[in-house]
Amino acid sequence: MAAGAAARRDPDPEPVPAAGEKRILCVGLVCLDIITVVPAYPAEDTDTRCVSQRWQRGGNASNSCTVLALLGAPCAFMGSLAPRHAGDFIAADFQRRGVDVTHVAWQPHGDVPCACCIVSAASGSRTIMLYDTNLPDVTARDFERVDLSQYKWIHWEVFISKDLARHFGYRSAPEALRGLRGRVQPGATLICAWAEEGADAVGPDGELVHSDAFPPETLVDTLGAGDTFNAAVIFALSAGRSLQDALTFGCQIAGRKCGIQGFDGIV
Ligand code: ADP
Repeated sequence: MAAGAAARRDPDPEPVPAAGEKRILCVGLVCLDIITVVPAYPAEDTDTRCVSQRWQRGGNASNSCTVLALLGAPCAFMGSLAPRHAGDFIAADFQRRGVDVTHVAWQPHGDVPCACCIVSAASGSRTIMLYDTNLPDVTARDFERVDLSQYKWIHWEVFISKDLARHFGYRSAPEALRGLRGRVQPGATLICAWAEEGADAVGPDGELVHSDAFPPETLVDTLGAGDTFNAAVIFALSAGRSLQDALTFGCQIAGRKCGIQGFDGIV
């Protein structure tokens, strides 16, 4: 931990889970999202007015923690942060949401990654430009300090996003699951969300399950839809619900998220 980091740690205790209640840990990216909402996606080299602008704590694992906290699940985030303005904004926001930040690796050098995001009010689309800075990542040594007995679920990107699936040349969620199944350990569960087509999954028995999407009345903001879906699926699976139930719940909560700006109002 960085020398100055102890002083930056929240002096107030994080919300304590009920006796014996285990937490969910999400490991991965946190960044600063600078979000500009535009009436419609602008043409290159034009000068226009936007609808609104905001700073938001972003990053996949960080967003999933936000959603888990909103769903009422005790959760913790593990990832790298740097002190100074953006890091302090992010730490305060984790605290506001009641996300445990004990496992944040405060780095003495480097800057917090920043994403400039354009959300189109006309379509709800999100265009993300991430500046992946020089901030060192968490290490195996950081992870060794985690008391695993406190956690019932640790999330490390096991879900397949449609962007990754497309990168591998797949054109649908079922196609991606069928294609990637042979590359994971037998007994694994693979889950793949696919925007307005909903999501598919294949469990240890090899059976493919599907949920349709639950489109909101108006598509407002799809930034973080995948992170919301992941969090809701983890929430349901970690409570012992079936893969089919979890997939449906994930699509319901993600659909609600697409109908609002940010995350407040998904539950
Ligand atoms: P990502 O944020 O990773 O691009 P996706 O676009 O695949 O995530 O969306 C994740 C989930 O969010 C989908 O499974 C779906 O339930 C919901 N979703 C996303 N876009 C829409 C949409 N246009 N209409 C309805 N639901 C959507």
